[in-house]
Amino acid sequence: MHLVLLGPPGAGKGTQAVDLAKETGLVHVATGDMFRENVRGGTELGVLAKQYMDKGELVPDEVTIAMLLERLSRDDAQTGSMLDGFPRTLEQAIALDKALEERGQRVDRVLLIEVSPDEVQRRLGGRWTCPTDGAIYHETNKPPAVAGKCDDCGRALIQRDDDKPEAIARRLTVYNEQTAPLIGYYTEAGKLTSVNGEQSPDAVRADLLNALKEVA
Ligand code: AMP
Repeated sequence: MHLVLLGPPGAGKGTQAVDLAKETGLVHVATGDMFRENVRGGTELGVLAKQYMDKGELVPDEVTIAMLLERLSRDDAQTGSMLDGFPRTLEQAIALDKALEERGQRVDRVLLIEVSPDEVQRRLGGRWTCPTDGAIYHETNKPPAVAGKCDDCGRALIQRDDDKPEAIARRLTVYNEQTAPLIGYYTEAGKLTSVNGEQSPDAVRADLLNALKEVA
């Protein structure tokens, strides 16, 4: 079973995807995490991706699609995957459909976590990250025990370049222009289920699991 988790930046896709992957036994494939690993490792792909990520732009389709398809070709993704952050453009969605079709598979269900633009702005604006372990805190939703310091290692928290106000605004525009059209694409294919993302993480999780029960 291949599942796609869709939603604006800050919808909580990452957290939910990790849980859902555990629950379903599907491998969690997050293109944002893959790019960040490459950035940390200083690979050629990382250097290229960083230029786009820092500005809140999408990494070009050609590069992103190649990276994702290579990931899906590995053993642990042969029978399914939990896709988080991919596809983000129509071209990516079409490439995914084509690649899965060649394997006799398909995207089985797309789960949309709906969050209003105002709420997205609020959530992303207060996000701080530990430079050591990548732990994410939030000024109001999940403050660290000591202001500005990581709970685990005590290092000063930083604001990721893509969490800065200009980049947030750009990420939202990019989502509306390039990713939101996928809602129509997957609705027409009869694959979309929406859940209300403006509830507690546990309630969102319960709704997502409920939606999955309907997938044969
Ligand atoms: P995320 O952690 O999913 O928000 O991704 C972080 C950044 O990685 C995004 O803002 C993009 O610059 C890049 N990225 C992740 N997934 C994709 C994708 N499917 N297509 C293009 N760029 C992506």
